[in-house]
Amino acid sequence: MLDREGPAAGPTAEPTETAEPTDTTTPLPTPEPAERAVRRPALSPSRAADFKQCPLLYRFRAVDRLPEPPTRAQLRGTLVHSVLEKLFALPAAERMPERARDLLAPAWAELAEQSPEWTELFPGAESAEVTEWLGSAAELLDAYFRLEDPRRLEPEACELHVETELGSGVLLRGYVDRLDVAPTGEIRVVDYKTGAAPRAIGEAKAMFQMKFYAVVLWRLRGVVPRQLKLMYLTDGQALAYTPDEAELRRFERTLEAIWQAILRAGRTGDFRPSPSRLCDWCAHRALCPSHGGTPPEYPGWPEPDAGEESPLDRAD
Ligand code: SF4
Repeated sequence: MLDREGPAAGPTAEPTETAEPTDTTTPLPTPEPAERAVRRPALSPSRAADFKQCPLLYRFRAVDRLPEPPTRAQLRGTLVHSVLEKLFALPAAERMPERARDLLAPAWAELAEQSPEWTELFPGAESAEVTEWLGSAAELLDAYFRLEDPRRLEPEACELHVETELGSGVLLRGYVDRLDVAPTGEIRVVDYKTGAAPRAIGEAKAMFQMKFYAVVLWRLRGVVPRQLKLMYLTDGQALAYTPDEAELRRFERTLEAIWQAILRAGRTGDFRPSPSRLCDWCAHRALCPSHGGTPPEYPGWPEPDAGEESPLDRAD
C-alpha cells in the first residue's frame, strides 16, 4: 500500500520512534575463494535500475566505468545525506534545525578533503557560488525538519551497508540511508531524495530501490520491513509503502532475472541502448549510438565489484 504524506504537523507516532534461456558461450571468470565473500560482482539498486532503464547505460557505468563528473545537485545530495547522518550521531535533544545548518560547512570541508576533485565545481573556494549552494542545501535540511522531528527518533543505523545472497546465488549489495527498528522489532527503511530530476520520473526508480532494500533486509533479518519511506526534500513530501512477503518473493525473481540478463550481456558485450526521456540526464550521450555517438570497444566483464555504488549514487 502506498501512502502520500505531506509536512508533519507535529511529532509522529510511528512505531519506530524511540527508537531467459541459459547461455552456452564463454563462462565469466570466477573470483578466487578469498574474494568471493566480499568482492565478487553483485547487484546494487542503482546498477539494476540502470540496466532496466538502458543496458548500455549499465555498461558505461559498471563495465567501462566511465567517469561521470558530478553535478552541483548531486554533490548537494551527498552533502545533505552526510549532514543527516551526523545529525543522528548527536544526542537526540541537539537535533535541531540550527544545529543541522551548522553542520553543513564542516561536512562540505570533509567531503572536499576526501574528494578534492569535487571542489572543481566551484572555482574559487570562498566564492559566492559556494555560499549560495550551501544555502540551497540548508533549504533541503529545513524541508527535512518539516517532515519529521529527529529528536523523537533513535535509528538503529544510518548509511548502513547491506549485503545478502539469494538462494539462486545472486549477491545483492547496497546502502540504506536510515534504518529504524521499533522495540517490537518492526523495521522501517528510510531514504532521503534530494535529486533535481522531476519526482514523477524518479518515483518508480525510487520504489524499485526501496523494494530492493526490503528484500535484502527481509533475507538478512527474517522480518519483512513494516514500512518503506521515501522523503523528498526538494518538495517536502514523503511516500510510505508497506510491502508484503508475497510481493517481495516476486521482486526477488525480478532481481534474479535482471542479474541473469546482465550476465548474458556481460558475456557477449551486447548492451543495447534504450533511449527515453531519461537520456536528458545521461552523462554518456556523446558515446551513445542512439544519439549519433560510438561507444568504446567492449573491455570485457569486470572483476570484481560490478555492482558497487558511489556516494553520489546513494544521494540521488
Ligand atoms: S543516452 Fe539514453 S540510450 Fe544512450 S546510453 Fe544514455 S540512457 Fe542509454
